[in-house]
Amino acid sequence: MKKRIALIAHDKKKDDMVQLASEYADLLRQCILVATGTTGKRLHDEVGLTVERKHSGPVGGDLQIGAELVEGKIDCVIFLRDPMTPQPHEPDINALVRACDVHNIPCATNVTSARMLLSQIVPHHHHHN
Ligand code: PGA
Repeated sequence: MKKRIALIAHDKKKDDMVQLASEYADLLRQCILVATGTTGKRLHDEVGLTVERKHSGPVGGDLQIGAELVEGKIDCVIFLRDPMTPQPHEPDINALVRACDVHNIPCATNVTSARMLLSQIVPHHHHHN
């Protein structure tokens, strides 16, 4: 089964997300990617990744990803949060991070931890006969 990875970046962290995804593009191309709306559009337009796009975060994208996670459909979350800017959808952000903790799903909330997490992901394993 391919790994299914969720990618979310707040506005001031979107450049970092694009940079990170470019670094790990070879790995990410072997995974199924889910992202909030604007993050997903940038990953598609600027990195060339195929991304399943949910709603934008402030209108429920985090909750959509959280719901999938609760159903066991997300293996890993990269969530580049902006800790310096108040977010109107803070309850949704907290709900997603909480869901990761409830279900023991790895969640990286800054670039350094994201690199460590992504570097541990073993993509789809090909069987040879
Ligand atoms: P976005 O959502 O990718 O649609 O901007 C993330 C957020 O900013 O909450």
